[in-house]
Amino acid sequence: MKRKSNNKTNKALTITLLTSSIVMTALVVWIGLNGWDVTKTLKQVGIGTEVEPQETPLETPDAVEEQEKDPEENDVTNETETKDQKDTETTTPTKEQQKPVTPAPKEEDKAQVTNKPPVNKNKSGYIEGQELPKEPTYINGILLANKQYPLPSTFAPGENTEARDAFDEMAAEAKLSGFNITAFSTYRSYEYQVSLYDRYAKKDGVEAADRYSARPGYSEHQTGLAFDIGEVNYEKHWASSSFGDTEAGKWVAANAHRYGFILRYPEGKEAITGYMHESWHFRYVGKPASEEIFKRNITLEEYLGVQ
Ligand SMILES: [Zn+2]
Repeated sequence: MKRKSNNKTNKALTITLLTSSIVMTALVVWIGLNGWDVTKTLKQVGIGTEVEPQETPLETPDAVEEQEKDPEENDVTNETETKDQKDTETTTPTKEQQKPVTPAPKEEDKAQVTNKPPVNKNKSGYIEGQELPKEPTYINGILLANKQYPLPSTFAPGENTEARDAFDEMAAEAKLSGFNITAFSTYRSYEYQVSLYDRYAKKDGVEAADRYSARPGYSEHQTGLAFDIGEVNYEKHWASSSFGDTEAGKWVAANAHRYGFILRYPEGKEAITGYMHESWHFRYVGKPASEEIFKRNITLEEYLGVQ
């Protein structure tokens, strides 16, 4: 009985040991496998949290750069390049993302450099490198001369007789009101403007000279239609803003349009005319035009539709 039971116990023990060893082995293997998974997962989580803050500062300057680029980039080529960069960034690993980030600002700089030159006007309103035309510009029969529409160097019409007659008529009426007005500078030849501008540029520098003197070919005085008006015996107000404050100056400003003249460079219109307010500089445009320009309080550029 005992032997039998011993045998049975031995068998049972053997089975139990075998079973438990199988179970243990299975457990060890399972735990071992799970252990790998857990550490892997933990590592992945660990990496995940490490990667994210790395990616964030990488993406932020990227995003800023792209935001800055968009409003400035009108160039189609540059936009394509930016799109290409985005594509490589999404498909390449994190570390390689840093590489396209570095050249990006360089391309942005290039884009800025290439986008700026189309604005040709310099500080003084001239188009740098512009050549004088072969023919003067007439719009609706009115001769235009300004910083964008120069005259040919050969254009030498002399003082306009129609303008002179109109001025003499105006001066005669001004005299009746007690003002003895004169035109102290009218027609100026291209050659005269060359010597005048050169003298000013040598004395004060080009930038300063551009503020008060027209470059040769750009002076309205070369048209023979510009009249610098002042009062006889009051030379101190000639070519001075103070002329506009004198009674004579006020009379001319209020009546010139009735004789076909306009105040060519009014106050507050510098951005359109290209010149500071000149209370003494009048331009003959002929009567219907002068009346309309005066009544509408506009400039010649606006009247001719070039601004
Ligand atoms: Zn003038």
